[in-house]
Amino acid sequence: METKTLEKQKTGMYENVMKQFNHAADVMGLDDNIRKILSATNNEIVVHFPVKLDNGKVEIFTGYRVQHNNALGPYKGGLRFHPTVDIDAARALAIWMTWKSALAGLPYGGGKGGIQIDPKNYSQSELERITRRFTYALGDNIGPDLDIPAPDVNTNAQIMAWISDTYVSTKSPANRQTNLHVVTGKPVGSGGLEGRDRATGFGVVATIKSWVKLNNIDLKGKTYIVQGFGNVGYWASHFMQKEGAKLIAVQDASGSIINSKGIDPDLLNEHCRQNKGAVAGFSQAGILNNADFFATECDIIIPAALGNQITVENAPSIKAQLIAEGANGPTTVEAEEILLEKGIKIIPDILCNSGGVIGSYYEWLQNKRSENWKIEDVLIMIEDKISAAFNKVLQSSEQFKTDWRISAYIVALQRIELTYIERGVFP
Ligand code: GLU
Repeated sequence: METKTLEKQKTGMYENVMKQFNHAADVMGLDDNIRKILSATNNEIVVHFPVKLDNGKVEIFTGYRVQHNNALGPYKGGLRFHPTVDIDAARALAIWMTWKSALAGLPYGGGKGGIQIDPKNYSQSELERITRRFTYALGDNIGPDLDIPAPDVNTNAQIMAWISDTYVSTKSPANRQTNLHVVTGKPVGSGGLEGRDRATGFGVVATIKSWVKLNNIDLKGKTYIVQGFGNVGYWASHFMQKEGAKLIAVQDASGSIINSKGIDPDLLNEHCRQNKGAVAGFSQAGILNNADFFATECDIIIPAALGNQITVENAPSIKAQLIAEGANGPTTVEAEEILLEKGIKIIPDILCNSGGVIGSYYEWLQNKRSENWKIEDVLIMIEDKISAAFNKVLQSSEQFKTDWRISAYIVALQRIELTYIERGVFP
């Protein structure tokens, strides 16, 4: 990836989340002391650790874990392996997690972290050693009732299995079973939850269905485009297809593809599997200029890749009616102003992609209870929870006469504010 693109994705995420927070705090009149507390992150852990590569040489890696706030429960949030991971990105993403968990009504705070690497540059066994050594370096800064990581960009169930195994293997063997839920998003055979793999994409579509219902329209035949065809992009497309909507363009780091007659998400997924995750070269679609992607004529846009993708440069050309934020922070504050002005609705990230952490919560509960839950039940529970959050956002948007992002923040902040008011500030 070009350095310029990397910089664009990196810079501004922290500024974005703070602008959103301060805006919402102003609108709702958040208590000043609580505003101060929530403006700071509780803990920021940076670890440097060595790993032996396949060629025998040692490389030093830098890993991050930022724990923003735990007023509502243990810190919760993903670990990403990506060149854009740095302390600012980890901070911004941890803060978004605090709002996301609070909005969904979960007993969690917010955390996020990762390693600044491009996993494509490492073999599977190197990735295993990097993951295990990172987990070891984090030590007791994570834990099943303290801080519970999960998958995020470029991390998956396999990586969660290595984290969980490393964590439990470095603790007393007597606690193996009770420590399993130090991470969520594990493979089903290792305590994972059936359906957690698709939970985020499923939740994205559940929120789109709530929007459809609200507007009394039919999702059948509606066209949409997706940026990023990883876990979230693929599963969201899979569930959109089930609703009869038509995927017409996809963009990822390898390029953009288009077919106005429709792209089959499962065929594209198969193509990606065989091509190191890249959508480029898919035989059943043509090539689209990267710069024209967001301007594609369509009803719905699902950004499901990185932050800062919808900017002042491309926002004016957007023709869709709805943006469903599968990614975290895909829209800059300035771009959002343009979109709202144009009457485009945005289902904000902290609501739209919360199916993932909701699924994680059920995995955590399943582990705590030593149970195994069925996928049918899990998906119903996720849909119920995310739809309830959507309705709360709508009510707050009417009450405060504000857009959905700010009203989503308000619902989350009210919950955290209440807990501080009730409990006070120690000592
Ligand atoms: N990384 C996901 C997110 O950004 C999931 C977090 C989790 O399940 O803890 O919401």
